[in-house]
Amino acid sequence: MVIEVRKIGVKVEIPDEVMSNMARYEQLPAENEKGGILLGMYDKDNQYYQITDFTVPTEHDNSGPSHFVRNKDVAQKEINRQWMESDGLVNYLGEWHTHAQVNPKPSIVDLSLLRQIIKDHSSLWPHLLMLILGQAGSAILIVVEQKRKRRMQFKVEVNFSNAGVCNR
Ligand SMILES: [Zn+2]
Repeated sequence: MVIEVRKIGVKVEIPDEVMSNMARYEQLPAENEKGGILLGMYDKDNQYYQITDFTVPTEHDNSGPSHFVRNKDVAQKEINRQWMESDGLVNYLGEWHTHAQVNPKPSIVDLSLLRQIIKDHSSLWPHLLMLILGQAGSAILIVVEQKRKRRMQFKVEVNFSNAGVCNR
């Protein structure tokens, strides 16, 4: 699936394989939140991001029914490994995690995490992504412009329920 943020001409591709792999982590009632980081590539000329992979929850993360804090060292090691193996093409794109809600909305904690990541200069590219996977195949992609003074933030609903099927 290719998600387009028309106002700024940014496209984000989530390949079918990535979608169907991630859909398996949907948070069921009584489960804790799950999450990790998004990895991928950026084509500057076309403002085109491709999510190529994501990290999965580890025992080193801190999670509960409505919070998830990933382990920093595990994620950084994976970024380094994929960056090396791809000759510098693949890098950190942002964050993903689950919510136990249909049509998930970012929480205050999620929004402050985005601000912190921008402050830390964790992402080399102009936009930072956050994907929240809800229940029943619902999801939301948040695209944040990092450079502007008044930071623009765009939210696009994504349908994971027919992951593997093109939605056009
Ligand atoms: Zn959240």
